[in-house]
Amino acid sequence: MTTELQELFESNREWAADVEAREPGFFSRLLKQQTPQYLWIGCADSRVPANELVNLLPGELFVHRNIANVVVPSDLNALSVIQYAVDALRVRHIIVVGHSNCGGVKAALNNLRVGLADNWLRHIQDVRDMHLAFLDSLPAEHRIGALVELNVLEQARNVCRTTIVEDAWQRGQDVVIHGWVYGLHNGLLEDLRMTVSSAEAIPEAYQRALAALQQRYAALPTPAAP
Ligand SMILES: [Zn+2]
Repeated sequence: MTTELQELFESNREWAADVEAREPGFFSRLLKQQTPQYLWIGCADSRVPANELVNLLPGELFVHRNIANVVVPSDLNALSVIQYAVDALRVRHIIVVGHSNCGGVKAALNNLRVGLADNWLRHIQDVRDMHLAFLDSLPAEHRIGALVELNVLEQARNVCRTTIVEDAWQRGQDVVIHGWVYGLHNGLLEDLRMTVSSAEAIPEAYQRALAALQQRYAALPTPAAP
């Protein structure tokens, strides 16, 4: 077994040379400023690489990732990222991105024990329990997808309710919160239309996105009985 991870240093040198060849002076320009327009809050899952799937270069996307894209109002890590993004970088958009077949959401849904993360996933179980009647009304095959999307709506609403975003809106700063989901099976992003640009708009945006989600899942064909 290699202990030096030489393969990663080699691919890093190739990548840096490729970028510099395509855009001479890229890294020296990047040194001078960081002005991303977007903060991405996504899952730590290795299949959901934030920059790559929206084709953005270094310097264009500020990123925070954790298991199952959770935003808890007592998480100093997430709050610090949001605060820096909003107050210092003045990003225009904060996007919470869930993804299909999320292992964290699946564990939370089915009470699977995975370890320390079980405690983190309690937050998603709270989301599950808030929407239990709706989830129970769905065929088992559709529940993970539905909970992934419900979790995006709840976490996007949590972002809206942070003191950082509340204060930004209060002073008239433009920042828009979004909720998206990424399909592992096709590489495509979908907008769940939880798009909020003021404190007053939170309830309506949430209710509209929730109603659309519920209608979409209710209309899915029930899998044939075996
Ligand atoms: Zn995930």
